[in-house]
Amino acid sequence: KSDILALGGPKEVTLGVMGGGQLGRMFAHAAQQMGFFTAVLDPDANSPAGRISHHHIQTEYTDPAGLARLAEVSAAITTEFENVPAQALQQLAHTRPVAPSGAAVAIAQDRAAEKAHFVKCGVPCAPYAVIETAQQLAAVDANLLPGILKTARMGYDGKGQVRVKTPAELAAAWADLGGVSCVLEKMLPLALECSVIVARASDGSCVNLPVQRNLHRDGILVVTEVYEGNLPPALVERAVAAAKSIAKGVQYVGVLCVEFFVLDESHPASAGLGGLVVNEMAPRPHNSGHYSMDACDVSQFDLQVRTLAGLPLVQPRQHSPAIMLNLLGDIWPNEGRDGGVPDWAAVLALPGTHLHLYGKLDAKKGRKMGHLNITGATVAQVRATALEAARILG
Ligand code: ADP
Ligand code: MG
Repeated sequence: KSDILALGGPKEVTLGVMGGGQLGRMFAHAAQQMGFFTAVLDPDANSPAGRISHHHIQTEYTDPAGLARLAEVSAAITTEFENVPAQALQQLAHTRPVAPSGAAVAIAQDRAAEKAHFVKCGVPCAPYAVIETAQQLAAVDANLLPGILKTARMGYDGKGQVRVKTPAELAAAWADLGGVSCVLEKMLPLALECSVIVARASDGSCVNLPVQRNLHRDGILVVTEVYEGNLPPALVERAVAAAKSIAKGVQYVGVLCVEFFVLDESHPASAGLGGLVVNEMAPRPHNSGHYSMDACDVSQFDLQVRTLAGLPLVQPRQHSPAIMLNLLGDIWPNEGRDGGVPDWAAVLALPGTHLHLYGKLDAKKGRKMGHLNITGATVAQVRATALEAARILG
């Protein structure tokens, strides 16, 4: 541990990350700002984080030599995406501090284990059934329909999900998904979606970022808004308490994002659920927390560095209302095929715009290329700027 804090001394102190996507890149930037060196393990030669790190170990996530090399150069290791094999984290943990733990990541990797964890922590989630066999399929409670069938593993951005209305559609969807382990969730009437980012240290201290209100389109996050008055205070309080108890329940160390559904309580399908249900958790910083980079005095990536290095956690303070717009490949003219890009100059001419691009060279539909944070003196100003930016970006 003292090794980790030998910053500014004569030796390099390196923090390692499994995965080289944009979350790893922004973690590396935050770590480098504090004088850390960074190491990334990712097989892709062009990974956003690999390209900007001091070490890029270009192997598969399970490659023993790659993992050994990462452990050799790193004082401590974190992860940036949840599909990193939990065993790889457990292997690294033999020789180096690893946060979050492989055990916590393993729960978040499996929707069935994740929901069981929520239930254990006393936080309600959508009514659901685990479907691993034809018998379980046949025995599904009709009350769960209409519902969403989700693969238990490897889903993201709405992938691996099918909406089903009848038992026949459910059976067909399960077959289409290859008969793999799934959960069927009751389709809930959503009033809105929100998420909470917490950071928890090994001594149990836990802080949170202000609660994010999120808008998804086709299962992908498109807009996050965070400002006073955006959500009822009682709801914010409940969501933060639920996220903290979910973190505590796995002795979590690191940054955790917990996503929630706020239900439309006038709808009969909401009956008995209490208005707020947890959707899922991500054992890492999250797209919905990107606003913190420009609107808070400590960002979610700063928190990741602090939890990994055993540095003190302080409650972050938001100093500006914020709106984050995701920049998906869709807004590149002709999806980037003929080299055109959005009109960045027009966007940056608006006051309070902060452009973050991830260094990805090929725009594709639905691909997260960057995000635009918008800050300002007042909510009205931020909203007006966001509308104008959205108009420019199309
Ligand atoms: P992913 O892992 O791909 O983010 P989610 O389970 O978070 O998948 O689902 C993506 C989106 O689909 C959610 O943000 C929400 O808008 C919608 N959704 C998912 N489950 C339900 C549900 N049970 N009822 C209503 N909408 C849902
Ligand atoms: Mg989600």
